[in-house]
Amino acid sequence: MANVKVAVRVRPLNARESADGGKLAVQVDDKLVRIRNVKLDGRSEGAVDSREKLLEFCFDYCYWSVESADPHYASQEEVFQDLGVSVLAGASEGYNVCLFAYGQTGSGKTYTMMGTPESIGLTPRICQGLFCPEDSFSDGQNSSRVEISFLEIYNERVRDLLRGEQKKRTSLRVREHPEKGPYVEDLSQHMVTDCKQAIDLLEEGIANRMTAATHNHDTSSRSHAIFTIQYTQAILENNLPSETVSKINLVDLAGSERADPQYCRDRLTEGSNINKSLVTLGIVISALAQNSQMSSSCQSINSVASEGDSSTLGSHSSSLSGGAGGGRRLCFIPYRDSVLTWLLKDSLGGNSKTIMIATVSPSANSYNETLSTLRYAAHARNIVNKPRVNEDPNVRLIRELREEIDRLKSMLLSFELQRNPSPSLSDERDGNLSEMVLQNELKVEQLTKDWSESWRDKKELLERYSVDINRDRAGFLINSLQPHLVSLDRDVLSTGIVFYHLREGITRIGPHEQCEEPHIVVQGSSRCEIENHGGVVTLRPLPGCVCLLNDREVTEPCRLAQGTVITLGGAHKFRFNHPAEAAVLRERRRVSEGGSTCSYVDFCSVTPDDE
Ligand code: ADP
Ligand code: MG
Repeated sequence: MANVKVAVRVRPLNARESADGGKLAVQVDDKLVRIRNVKLDGRSEGAVDSREKLLEFCFDYCYWSVESADPHYASQEEVFQDLGVSVLAGASEGYNVCLFAYGQTGSGKTYTMMGTPESIGLTPRICQGLFCPEDSFSDGQNSSRVEISFLEIYNERVRDLLRGEQKKRTSLRVREHPEKGPYVEDLSQHMVTDCKQAIDLLEEGIANRMTAATHNHDTSSRSHAIFTIQYTQAILENNLPSETVSKINLVDLAGSERADPQYCRDRLTEGSNINKSLVTLGIVISALAQNSQMSSSCQSINSVASEGDSSTLGSHSSSLSGGAGGGRRLCFIPYRDSVLTWLLKDSLGGNSKTIMIATVSPSANSYNETLSTLRYAAHARNIVNKPRVNEDPNVRLIRELREEIDRLKSMLLSFELQRNPSPSLSDERDGNLSEMVLQNELKVEQLTKDWSESWRDKKELLERYSVDINRDRAGFLINSLQPHLVSLDRDVLSTGIVFYHLREGITRIGPHEQCEEPHIVVQGSSRCEIENHGGVVTLRPLPGCVCLLNDREVTEPCRLAQGTVITLGGAHKFRFNHPAEAAVLRERRRVSEGGSTCSYVDFCSVTPDDE
């Protein structure tokens, strides 16, 4: 059990707020945030309730980032040292972790989560932390795997921010797995092996989000972005394996003023679907907070958050709990009412360690929005989650068997120590126990061996060939970064798909009987050599074998172009792929699209080798 941790960060005044007089309404004092209603300043004590003048909230962390000259100023690094480090610690222990930023538009959510090139934010810092050298498990026995996905929710539609251009606009479905919970069907997952690759993906996704914003000027403030890192660790210590998978959700939410109760109610009656996700998030947080308070009778209720809470959060929760007097029943949590809450189901009240960072403006002009954010944050702090270490079931079995062995061994030992007067009976019992220990030990040994081999094989394969396997609609997609051949087998009974990587240097293709052992074995008289020289790939036909490139016979060395089909001896066909060249050609096609008539054939033409 763990409560959602809540941090509040106060950003600097912006130019407009400074020009308006720069009056501050917010103060931070250690873990307390005070907000003053400056409009009531002139009123006498008797005329207004003093609690309305100055409200106080307590949080887990409070960051004053208003002026860099201030001795209490909290920089991006300081925020990372608390929140980012705790995200990384949770993930390395095998927990799911969620960090989400909440606040009105322009309050600093994106600044905190993503940052700027001069002042990088939590997400890229967390990526760096995952790959920092002292923590990386690269010593053969221990290793880790990092996969990334990035999505955006806009108007209740989910878009993959890391898809190829043509698929960018398709919206994806959210589904629920009975054990793993809600997930986005067909969301692309990208394996990364260093920090730069992770940050490149983050930037690619942000750029896609930006493009969308130019098409619909209001998108940025109404879309939620979820950057997910799946972090799998395999550790073999004293021959005892451990394999954990943790999901890190880093969420940059849309501006909260869209969820303003009054605003939303009006718009909803107009039939317009105004950020349903954010409104539902409010209801879910409130209902969860209420449930948590109900189930822990000894927990004292945050007086400020509950007293005089006239926002809809309060009214939603009372309606959810069945109206006046029905407060004893646990509220139904309407996760499935919006895409955001459905996807964050585990992060809110479930299997996750969750941190919320509420961002606010210090300006007196934003009093209402800031107060609403602080109340939201205070509610969120009451949510109790149930995080657990996500362990591989086989590994759990190995550990349990080991524990059983230890238990049996200690039983054996205690019998030996207190040998009773009937030696034959105890010998028999000892024999049975010893046999059980032996059997269990054999089982553990085999399971550990199987586990180590399968983990190592998979990882080696993916790394050695730098391939990346992603799910794609009904199938899966294998992406490779190196030039390669895909075998196009004519045998109707052949079912596998074979990739041949063309590594730097010469790859020989031919039958076994050839004097030099071929790298790619084919039957009959088909043979040739392919040389990869710094990414320039050249095919050399060899005497005695008819070699066709895109159905044209070649007798001289030829440079291979992306998509070329190679036919050797009339029997063996391969398609040549050059991922780096293809990326350049795709970009060229994208630029020329709409006017020019660049065809597939133009891209795949065979160029005789000049050298
Ligand atoms: P949001 O994502 O909440 O809409 P942004 O993160 O885009 O808001 O912030 C709005 C503006 O305020 C940006 O120009 C950003 O650089 C600036 N800003 C926000 N928080 C801070 C901060 N803590 N320090 C300096 N500038 C900030
Ligand atoms: Mg933003």
